[in-house]
Amino acid sequence: MKNNKQVLIVGTGLGGLSTGLRLAKQGYHVKFVEKYHKAGGRLNQISKDGFTFDIGPSFFSMPYEFEEMMNDCGIEMPFKFVELDPLYTVNFKGNPNKFYIHKDIDKMAEQFEGIESNFKEKFNKYLKKCEEIYNDTIDIVIKQNFNSIPDYVRSLMNVNPKHLNILLKSFWQQVNKYFESKEARQIISLIAFFLGRTPFDTNAVYTLLSHIEFTRTGYYNVENGMYTIVESLVDKLKELNCDFHYSTEIIDYESNRDKLTGLIDKHGKVWTSDIFVINADAALFRGSVLNRTKYNDKNLSKMNWTMGYLCFYLGIDTKLEQVEHHNYFLGDNYEDYSKHIMKNPGILEKPYYYVNAISKHNSNCAPENCEALFFVCPVPNLIYKTDWSDKDDIIDSIIEDFSSRINFKIKDHIITRLSFGPKEWRDNFNLYQGSGLGLSHHMLQIGALRPRNYDEKFKNCFYVGASTVPGAGLPMSVISSKLAEERVNNYCQ
Ligand SMILES: Cc1cc2nc3c(=O)[nH]c(=O)nc-3n(C[C@H](O)[C@H](O)[C@H](O)COP(=O)(O)OP(=O)(O)OC[C@H]3O[C@@H](n4cnc5c(N)ncnc54)[C@H](O)[C@@H]3O)c2cc1C
Repeated sequence: MKNNKQVLIVGTGLGGLSTGLRLAKQGYHVKFVEKYHKAGGRLNQISKDGFTFDIGPSFFSMPYEFEEMMNDCGIEMPFKFVELDPLYTVNFKGNPNKFYIHKDIDKMAEQFEGIESNFKEKFNKYLKKCEEIYNDTIDIVIKQNFNSIPDYVRSLMNVNPKHLNILLKSFWQQVNKYFESKEARQIISLIAFFLGRTPFDTNAVYTLLSHIEFTRTGYYNVENGMYTIVESLVDKLKELNCDFHYSTEIIDYESNRDKLTGLIDKHGKVWTSDIFVINADAALFRGSVLNRTKYNDKNLSKMNWTMGYLCFYLGIDTKLEQVEHHNYFLGDNYEDYSKHIMKNPGILEKPYYYVNAISKHNSNCAPENCEALFFVCPVPNLIYKTDWSDKDDIIDSIIEDFSSRINFKIKDHIITRLSFGPKEWRDNFNLYQGSGLGLSHHMLQIGALRPRNYDEKFKNCFYVGASTVPGAGLPMSVISSKLAEERVNNYCQ
C-alpha cells in the first residue's frame, strides 16, 4: 500500500469514479459526495413503468482506455462491451435511402455508388490523414499533464509540422477537401457534433475522431445498458470500503493558507480531508464554490461552451423494426442548421435529432414486445435560449417528424415519456448553463489552456472530468482520471 491518506471526491461522474478506483486501489481512503441522488453524473439512468433509460451516453469508443484502467488497477473488466455494427444509420429528409454506416469500407463504398465517385479511394485517403493526426497527437497532447503553458508549447513543437496547416481549417473544410457530395460531407462530418459544437466551428485536427470511429475502434454499447459501467465501478469501490454520500451538494469551502481544509455542503456540514478531487465542472466549481475571479459569472459566460441537449425518453408498446441501435435524422439545411444551432432557437422549427433504440441491444430495458427509445436533439444552451416553456412542443414536433419519416405513428403507442432539457441538466448535475459537454474543445481551451487539473491556490486540490484535461466523452474521463491520479501521487510523494 502506497498511501493511506483521506481523499474526498466531489462528484460521482465517470471521472470521479475512475479516479476513486485508481486511488482506492493504492490504499487511499476514498469518500464521495454527490449532489444527485445516485451515482453516474451524466452517465445516469432513469426508470419508469417497466422501462429503463440511460439518460446520456449511449455508446463509447476507445475501449482500450477502460482496459488500460482495469489493468492499472489490477482488476478484471467488470462489464462487457459489445461492438455496434452498423455504427449508426443516417436518414436525410426527403431521401428514402437510409445510409448504414459501417467500419467496413467496401460496405460504405457500395452505398455511395452514383453519389460520390471513387468513394473508396477518397475515404481511404481521408482516413490515412486522420490516422496520421491521431498517431502524431494522442500521446503528445491528449494523454499528458502539462505544468505550464511553455511546457505545453514545447510539447506541441514535437507534433509533426506537416499537420500545421490543419490548425487553420475547420472540420468541414477538411472533409470538403476530400469529398464532393453533400451526403458524404454531412455523414463524415457528423462526428463533430459529438464534441458538442458543429463541423463549422470545430478544428480540423479533430478529424482524428474519424480514425477512431472508422478504423481504430468503432463504437461499443454495454451489455445490460450503459449504466452497468457505473454500477460495476460503484460495486468495486464499495469492496474497497469507499463511502458514498448522495444528495450532498458542495457550496462553500474552508482553507488554511495554501491548503483546502474542508468543503461545506448545502446543509452546513463540513467535509474534511487530506486531499480533495473535484469532479464537478472544473471552471464552474472554481467560480461558484471557490469564488475565483477568473471564473466569476461574467468570465464564465465569455468562455466557449458546448451546445445544450434536449433529451427525451419514450417507452412504447411495440417493437420498432424501422430503426437500428443508433440513428441520425437530418433535415435538408445542414449548413444553415449547423451555423445557427448554437445561438438561434428559431432553428428548432426543423429539428435534427438522434434516436437510440436502447432495447435493441438490451432487451431488459423494456417489457416484452416493447421498445425503449432515447432521443437527443442538439439545442442552444441556456445562454442563448432561456425560455424552455416550449420544451414539450419541440418534443411533439420531433415525435411527429420521426413518425412521418419511419412511416409509423408512434404517438398512439407511447406508454411513458420523460425528458431532460438544458434546465434539467443544469439543475441536476450543475452543468454550466445546461451545456451538455461542458467547455468546448476550442483551440484556446485545450491542453494547458483548459482549466487545469490542479488548483492554482490549494496544493491538495485536484480536478477530473470533462471541463479539465483532456476533455469531453467517456474515454476522455478515463484518461482524465489517470492524469488526476498522477497529480495526487506527485503531491503525496
Ligand atoms: C445527452 C448526452 C449524451 C452523451 N453521449 C455520450 C456518448 O454517447 N458517448 C460518450 O463518450 N460521451 C457522451 N456524453 C458525454 C459524457 O457523458 C461526459 O463527457 C462524461 O460523462 C462526463 O463525465 P464527468 O465525470 O466529467 O462529469 P459528470 O458526469 O458531469 O459528473 C460530475 C458529477 O459531479 C456532480 N456535482 C457537480 N457539482 C457538484 C457539487 N457542487 N457538489 C456535489 N456534486 C457535484 C454532478 O452531480 C455529477 O454527478 C454525453 C453527454 C450528454 C449530456
